[in-house]
Amino acid sequence: MRSSATTPVPVGSLRPNGRTGYGGRGERERSRRVAAAIAAGAASPRIAILGAGAAGLCMGIRLRDAGIDTFTIYEKSDGVGGTWRDNTYPDAACDVPSHLYSFSFASKRDWTRKFARQPEILEYFESLVDRFDLARHLRLGVEITEAHHDDADGTWTLRTAGPEGEPDATIVADVVVSGLGQLNRPYVPDIPGLEAFREAGGTVFHSARWDHDHDLSGERVGVVGIGASAIQFVPPVAERAAHTTLFQRSSNYVGPRKDREFTPRERWLFDHVPGLQRRYRESIYWRFEGRFSAMRRGSRLGAWMQGQFRKQLRPMVSERLSEAALLPDYPLGCKRILISDNWYPTLLRPDLDVVTDAIERIDDGAVVTVDGEHHQVDTLVFGTGFRSTEFLSPLKITGRGGRDLNEVWADGARAHLGLAVPGFPNLFMLYGPNTNLGHNSILFMIEQQVGYVLRLVEEKMLLGLRSVDVAPSAASRFDTMVQAAAERTVWAEGCHSWYKTADGRITNNWTAHTTLYRKLLSFPDPDDWILERATPR
Ligand code: NAP
Repeated sequence: MRSSATTPVPVGSLRPNGRTGYGGRGERERSRRVAAAIAAGAASPRIAILGAGAAGLCMGIRLRDAGIDTFTIYEKSDGVGGTWRDNTYPDAACDVPSHLYSFSFASKRDWTRKFARQPEILEYFESLVDRFDLARHLRLGVEITEAHHDDADGTWTLRTAGPEGEPDATIVADVVVSGLGQLNRPYVPDIPGLEAFREAGGTVFHSARWDHDHDLSGERVGVVGIGASAIQFVPPVAERAAHTTLFQRSSNYVGPRKDREFTPRERWLFDHVPGLQRRYRESIYWRFEGRFSAMRRGSRLGAWMQGQFRKQLRPMVSERLSEAALLPDYPLGCKRILISDNWYPTLLRPDLDVVTDAIERIDDGAVVTVDGEHHQVDTLVFGTGFRSTEFLSPLKITGRGGRDLNEVWADGARAHLGLAVPGFPNLFMLYGPNTNLGHNSILFMIEQQVGYVLRLVEEKMLLGLRSVDVAPSAASRFDTMVQAAAERTVWAEGCHSWYKTADGRITNNWTAHTTLYRKLLSFPDPDDWILERATPR
């Protein structure tokens, strides 16, 4: 780490002290130093965590365990769980197996099925509040709308839109950690006639804002956008609706999920055999990690898998189900590979049509496609994903010298290790740019980030630092590395995907194995950080 010229900090004291991972000698040693510093009267930093989803909760738990109690988690909704609170659509489930989709330090041995459904996952995240005594740190119903860096004292001033009826307030924090992630703002395309359709009594909603009061029984339902969410909710919707029309821009590679309930005996074994749950979890992690090979351009594994898909799908092509509806026209992995046990049987239903012509407008209760066909619908469900490349917008964040983060990111978001931007000191992001995965569990990435941020917060406190800022050279080196690696992945091939901007810059995905990410985040590289003392000597 480098210190600012006027306010030197002894670099030697910042040398790595054990890994950032949970537990272990290094962490215990740091916790002891933090406890001793607090006992000696050191001020614990005021930390504002934005969002009570998986990332925000994980940050809170690790801070609390490190003895740092001065944090508040601000959450705009009225509960914790983030994406698993928002996405309540029928049959919402995780496509990462249950035992890997939990924190390494907070295992759950009694998962009921191989791929947990949304209610069970939400229950897991909600249970962490009591398990780790987080309730007193939570402020629900508070949305942070602005964050402004004060260059004079290194603090951040946050503006909130409080619960309805309460005046907006400001909060001052020494450190801000965003746990807002990449998939929190639903995207609905601007289709001419959509508003008029709604005004005329048609029902419209997005998959992440499911209207549970609206009964789809016997209706003509149109689904726009067929991605990870739609392949889960379309089968139960088609069961209920009189007719379902899928408006599909691109088809997907959908493999078998092989989901099932765990038997009582399996659950007993997970609960009683020491180490079994951990070994099972690790076996899933390594199996998934191996899948990254298929994400490389020109991969033989990818080509083989693609061939298998085509061989199995081609016989299903018929007059009703065209080649365009079934066979993806892009290399496997360019978009997320999906898994389902009932997708293709659903496509074969006689009361379901797949329309691959683009939507032109909505007119008089019908979706009109460019070929002039009118498809009558009562309800339109949008499974069109999220504003994924906009990251922290619409939050207005101004850093050092009044720089606006959205302007800094005008040609695509980027951040050192996915978590820090030069000129925005003491601000860290979890599940930020280039940290999404196409092949493994995002909770693994979040744990690495939280461990790393915790290290920086501890150093800030122990050394009495005013600010911790990433060096521009480090950020630029990291970005060059990530983008060079991105070029070698299938994501750079020609397909629409939420992993990249309209210009084709891959802003969302981590572009290597997660083991490399863990290594890079195992401790803060002293040369990557610029430190400033609270009071110049
Ligand atoms: P998605 O996978 O990005 O799918 C969006 C769909 O909408 C795609 O079919 C896309 O077509 C289509 N679309 C977008 N804009 C359109 C437009 N203007 N006109 C017509 N079609 C349009 O979104 P999602 O299904 O909400 O899933 C997003 C992500 O959430 C997933 O990739 C995954 O990471 C996460 N998720 C995870 C799980 C899980 O099990 N862990 C479950 C659900 C979601 P194109 O393909 O042509 O762009």
